Amino acid sequence: MTQHTTEQLRAWDKRHVWHPFTQMQDWEQDDAIVITRGEGSWLIDSDGKRYLDGVASMWTNVHGHCRKELNDALKDQVERLEHSTLLGLASEQSIILAQRLAQITPRGLTRFFYSDNGSTAMEVAVKMAFQYQVHRGRPERTRFITFRNAYHGDTLGAVSVGGIDIYHATFKPLMFETIQAAAPYCYRCELGCEGPETCDMLCLGALENIIREEGSTCAGLVIEPLLQGAGGMIVQPPGFLRRVRELCDRYGLLMITDEVATGFGRTGKMFACEHEDVVPDIMALSKGIAAGYLPLAATVATEEVYGAFLGEYAELKTFFHGHTFTGNPLACAVALKSLELFETDRLLEALQPKIQYLAERLAQIADLPHVGNIRHCGMAAGIELVVDKKNRTPYPWEEKTGVKVCLEARKHGVFSRPLGNTVVVFPPLAISMEELKLLMDGLELAIQAVTEMRAV
Ligand SMILES: *Cc1c(COP(=O)(O)O)cnc(C)c1O
Repeated sequence: MTQHTTEQLRAWDKRHVWHPFTQMQDWEQDDAIVITRGEGSWLIDSDGKRYLDGVASMWTNVHGHCRKELNDALKDQVERLEHSTLLGLASEQSIILAQRLAQITPRGLTRFFYSDNGSTAMEVAVKMAFQYQVHRGRPERTRFITFRNAYHGDTLGAVSVGGIDIYHATFKPLMFETIQAAAPYCYRCELGCEGPETCDMLCLGALENIIREEGSTCAGLVIEPLLQGAGGMIVQPPGFLRRVRELCDRYGLLMITDEVATGFGRTGKMFACEHEDVVPDIMALSKGIAAGYLPLAATVATEEVYGAFLGEYAELKTFFHGHTFTGNPLACAVALKSLELFETDRLLEALQPKIQYLAERLAQIADLPHVGNIRHCGMAAGIELVVDKKNRTPYPWEEKTGVKVCLEARKHGVFSRPLGNTVVVFPPLAISMEELKLLMDGLELAIQAVTEMRAV
């Protein structure tokens, strides 16, 4: 392979690559870091400079970059079969993966519909829930209960069930309508609560009112369990998810949980739902499923959901949906090896001291003068920066305070990407304790440099 200089790569990048969620006018003025290699928790650029991967390469990385066992599994598979379709054929790795996953997903979730990213996993979930109701003789149940601040992906169906205005407002005319409930965003509760200790989850009461009035026209409810990720790492109060499950049961709604970000260990358990002993009717998985190596997703359904689609050919109960690279053997082979590494590395157990350490560091950071709110769930955290701590006044979004903090963190060898003015902590799960310390040092120094500089 020919080597290109950093300058050449940057020039071509500016000329030809349209980056996601990026104002390209700004992008073209800056010199991008060009990543050419990865090693454990580190990304290495074209000049050999190393950055700690503080966001696990968009929340996907589990066992580190270029982990030998995963690389070998991929090489081994590519020598045998790179791809064959699931339309009309079965394929070895997709079969074994579904069988293995069925042993670890919450009890009763046994039917795996593969696709290749989080958005498609959610499109599938929404269409599946809708069609399920039709087959069960409830065609009037056409709508969905969703949450403000929710993020389920960027395709139109996923956008429709999402609730982040800055991403979604432009596309409103293209979206289907949903019924949006208040998110349990306790720091900025729209119902005026001071915090989960005092309110007894008023938002749940509001949700129940909505479901009581509108539920009979709804196919299901869509929720990111425990943690609204892209909405700003917003952590739900304990008990919230379980009570949402109870409401879904009471009013006959399918519960769709989007574990695209939380699945595969991020919250400290394999799946977020386990913290609340909740079994959804449909669950979406992606990001960590193939350890950050390849695009893969699965929408997992119960036997009850699956069973509704069975019938004579002419009844047209078939689920008419599918993607070209469904069940890709390379991705499935890596996913299988990743599950094995969870076992051999005892990864979930190894997370506990790291989660504990993260909590301690976050508690210190909470004392900084412009840190308004800390939200922590397992190996994910959000640090919300504010102009004024007492009044919880946000930084004007145009000031890009979160972005400035992340740029500053690069000076300390840390790569991070914020959510508005919330600084994100979301490292590869296999990060070492020393690396986690480096990450938190870098972020803390950067927050101080940017916010305390502005104050004077
Ligand atoms: C990232 C994400 C998605 C979308 O996944 P893509 O692979 O980017 O399409 C959906 N839901 C949640 C909770 C996510 O974090």
